[in-house]
Amino acid sequence: MLKIGSHVSFSDKGLLTATDEAKSYGSSSFMIYTGAPQNTRRKPIESLYIPEGKEAMTAAGIGEIVVHAPYIVNLGSYKEDTFELAVNFLQEEVRRTDAIGVNNIVLHPGAYTDKDAEYGIARIAEGLNEVLEATKHTNVNIALETMAGKGTEIGRSFEELAAIIERVHDNGRITICLDTCHVHDAGYDIVDDLDGVLKSFDSVIGLDRIAVVHLNDSKNPRGAGKDRHTPIGSGWIGYDAINNVVSHPALAGKPFILETPWIGKNAGKERPMYEAEIALLRGDVDVRFGGEFLEDVERLHHFFGKQDIDHRAFVLNTWELLKSDAKARKADPREPLERLYDLAMEHRALSGDYSEEAVNQRLTAYLAGREWLAKV
Ligand SMILES: [Zn+2]
Repeated sequence: MLKIGSHVSFSDKGLLTATDEAKSYGSSSFMIYTGAPQNTRRKPIESLYIPEGKEAMTAAGIGEIVVHAPYIVNLGSYKEDTFELAVNFLQEEVRRTDAIGVNNIVLHPGAYTDKDAEYGIARIAEGLNEVLEATKHTNVNIALETMAGKGTEIGRSFEELAAIIERVHDNGRITICLDTCHVHDAGYDIVDDLDGVLKSFDSVIGLDRIAVVHLNDSKNPRGAGKDRHTPIGSGWIGYDAINNVVSHPALAGKPFILETPWIGKNAGKERPMYEAEIALLRGDVDVRFGGEFLEDVERLHHFFGKQDIDHRAFVLNTWELLKSDAKARKADPREPLERLYDLAMEHRALSGDYSEEAVNQRLTAYLAGREWLAKV
């Protein structure tokens, strides 16, 4: 069975809360931060509802899950206190991950700030060696994430990750988290040459290191080095390319984790598109959402078709406009999904009294294209 889910909240009742949220999206996997991703405050392990959560996971058919380390720790820092904090905190995170019964903790390798990439690589490896040595009694691997190349972050190329792995003594415990948005933003062509990208990954790092895949579309063109996520189908990568990733034999059996944000007016009130994205990529939209949902998607195709809108061209042209024309962006900063929503509402393309979330779910399925709809 496809292991697919999203980032979910670990607050309140810990693993139980996370499982409930994941269940509401129809997930078979999920990813948590053990506390806020932007700080290092953590609750004691006893208050994380681990036995209760595990029971709920089994009942919900959720198997392998993933932990993500907070992104503020920086193993690449030359500052002694920053580096020490990162090493100490990561050791505790690895132990917490082990206590939850999870085998992979995803880590942004780090940033070299005022030094250079070579320094960063050596420093990160030094930190990883310390963390792995102090946690060798655990069953936890550290999954280095492929990065977009924002600022001075390390991990923008497969070669940088391989260079870290090479310097880690116990590198049987280093795995990789492949992020679709990040590799695309770093310049790898997963849209038109996924086979080529994976082949290059295999020769530089080895496909057997991949333990987790992050599924995100990108707000920026390939090579932009930006790292801004958007729902599947609403960005430069597109549904077809993401679907190719999910169904690629080299990635079979890996947990696929969505980290796509809510896009719309009702920020904070509506859920991200996880439920629709999961059903689309698993191929059970009809079961999850029913026949009326599919009729609505058909209506959207009919409506946008009459407006001479092709879903892919519309998404790409809108991003291109927002990127290249500052005046146009100032006059109308709405992203593709927001524009499609406004068009559909303005012309009453859908009957029924839907919430913004429900309309966006239908738009997400529309963005998977006619070919997808024909196959349902
Ligand atoms: Zn990440």
